[in-house]
Amino acid sequence: MRHKGWVAGYDFLIIPQPQPDELLSSWLTRTAFTHGYPLTTFISMFLKHDGSALSRIDIDFKEDPILFEILAKKSRFSIEQITHMSLRSEEGHLFESDHGLYPPKQIRKLKDKRTHYGLMFCPKCLGEDTHPYYRKQWRYHFHNACTKHKVFLIDRCGSCQERVRITKMKKVSDSITLCSKCGRDLRLTSARRIPDSLAYGIEAIEWFEKGLIDGYFTIGGVQIRSLFIFQVHTIFSALLDRGEPLCLAAFPMIDHYIALCKKEELYHSKKATPIYKNFYLNAMVYYLLQNFPFHLKRFAVDNHLTHRDFIHGFQNKPFWYQCMIDELVPMQNKIGREISESEVIGAIKYLKSISEKVTQESVAGTIGCHFTIHKQYANIYKKVRNLS
Ligand SMILES: [Zn+2]
Ligand SMILES: [Zn+2]
Repeated sequence: MRHKGWVAGYDFLIIPQPQPDELLSSWLTRTAFTHGYPLTTFISMFLKHDGSALSRIDIDFKEDPILFEILAKKSRFSIEQITHMSLRSEEGHLFESDHGLYPPKQIRKLKDKRTHYGLMFCPKCLGEDTHPYYRKQWRYHFHNACTKHKVFLIDRCGSCQERVRITKMKKVSDSITLCSKCGRDLRLTSARRIPDSLAYGIEAIEWFEKGLIDGYFTIGGVQIRSLFIFQVHTIFSALLDRGEPLCLAAFPMIDHYIALCKKEELYHSKKATPIYKNFYLNAMVYYLLQNFPFHLKRFAVDNHLTHRDFIHGFQNKPFWYQCMIDELVPMQNKIGREISESEVIGAIKYLKSISEKVTQESVAGTIGCHFTIHKQYANIYKKVRNLS
């Protein structure tokens, strides 16, 4: 313990230059390695923190001005330079600041099997770096492929399949590219190339990247704050993620998306499926925001989406979005038109034929009426649900 106190009074000795898009955990681990220690030991010795506690949490998302201050002092970099490496620097641009502990939808958690496994990376980027480092954008939800190398990002060790955790890496050399479990060099991981037929997906990532840097997107000739578009991204992704029944005929990669959905049903555990899927969903969101508002309107009509579908159940809706939907998607008539028994039976049959869940709500969605407020519909549904 005395030993720790002694070193903590000193500034860092050798300080690697942070890269413009480097993650804080990446830079911290590189700094630890140049001092000859794994991250946990380094933090305990130099930062007077409980090292293991700090390396267990998501350092890149943690809002910790005191830590930033200590790091700035010890490294002699400015607080701005340190803060820039934290994902918190994207607050107000990529996600809303709510001082929460856990990353919002726009940022990947360290581990979340629905979207990825461990920290994502491009092995070719790491391979080309003089001093390999992990990029901030690899944690953005819209970023599923490397736009420079045209490959899908990787989310685990290619050999032992362990998720990538920089903070757990052992100090073997100065490089932070060795798997924390088996020691294999992550730069050797082979990445799936993105063929020309999927170039639209790369274009989409570049468009979102540029908007984030600019701080705004131009939608239908109007400049919209980037934060609003990333909030809408979350809403649109949820609406677009309809699997095979999705109607988006003019979307350039629709066949690929449908094929993936079919495959997903067959092999549930397919490793990289969430990465491919999010790659398509991101491109679809991009598509909906192009030729505004025509693609969006067409999507709403072809998929029988009501005003309620676009609004209900989504938190953090920008006011701009609410106004846009009010204008583009007509409010549903709550009392509604006449609905016949055969129409309800037909809708149930249709849902069964596409293996969709048959519920009072899903059938109403197919018909285009409200599932409880439309009393005539609710009565018919209760009567026929077991007949068809
Ligand atoms: Zn790359
Ligand atoms: Zn491994």
